[in-house]
Amino acid sequence: MTVPTISLNDGHSIPQLGFGVFLVDPPETERIVTDALEAGYRHIDTAAIYKNEEGVGRAIAKSGIPRDELFITTKLWNEDQGTRSAHDAIDRSLEKLGLDHVDLYLIHWPSPTRGKYVESWLALEEIKATGKASSIGVSNFHEHHLKEIIEASSTVPAVDQIELHPKLAQQGLRTFGKSRGIAIESWGPLGQAKYPLFETPEVSSAAEAHGASPAQVVIRWHLQNGVIVFPKTNNADRMKQNFDVFGFELTAEEMAAIDSLDDGTRVGSDPDTAT
Ligand code: NAD
Repeated sequence: MTVPTISLNDGHSIPQLGFGVFLVDPPETERIVTDALEAGYRHIDTAAIYKNEEGVGRAIAKSGIPRDELFITTKLWNEDQGTRSAHDAIDRSLEKLGLDHVDLYLIHWPSPTRGKYVESWLALEEIKATGKASSIGVSNFHEHHLKEIIEASSTVPAVDQIELHPKLAQQGLRTFGKSRGIAIESWGPLGQAKYPLFETPEVSSAAEAHGASPAQVVIRWHLQNGVIVFPKTNNADRMKQNFDVFGFELTAEEMAAIDSLDDGTRVGSDPDTAT
């Protein structure tokens, strides 16, 4: 199965479908990421704060998959924002991952009360220049945070990884991203199973029509919207199911019905107030 790629604004490209490891237990990570690689995933999304970078690294090393066939993202944790601390943080992440570079390094949250996200963005520019990260971007940045770092630097973030699912479709940030060449990544793409998304008629009727699971329908909605998506599951069968989403296409009517679920509900924190 060939996963489509999205071109980033710095000349690199990213597989549009990947595997996320938020809340994957560190002792189980090597096995779970090994299952994901065996299922065909080549794009893994981790973060320093997930405390499972070592497991991701061990699974990568064991897999024997050539490095240039993998796309690995990790993230700068809030407490490590700042110039020197960001440089130290990427070194620690690379050591844990057993890699000499990541494909994408993100500022995890703006964490505005620290007042350091602009300084941290300038540090990520330096990190990109060293080759320790091929691409750099941000996560949980609202439009006003994005505008601030774009104005203060010479690099437009390659991506903004934001909470995005049918109840929080993020139309405004998607439009802004498109206008500035910032690719949008969806976190919590299945709503983190925190609301009954799979049972809503807009999702379940499309699933029935296509002989697909509700999760596959929601993943298709993300893909057809042009965003990058990396659902998480510890279950090998669901991993395969979530990867097997290229054999059907939602109609414009089915896409519009799922779009209509957007009511601005967040399952996570608001980036303006998260510390
Ligand atoms: P998600 O929306 O992917 O939901 C995960 C939940 O869905 C789990 O409970 C899982 O059991 C269930 N699920 C997965 N596949 C299923 C299937 N086929 N059928 C039924 N249930 C299924 O939530 P997430 O893990 O928070 O988000 C995905 C990734 O996004 C994370 O793993 C992480 O990499 C990233 N993320 C980033 C941030 C950030 O602040 N940047 C925050 C949260 C998550």
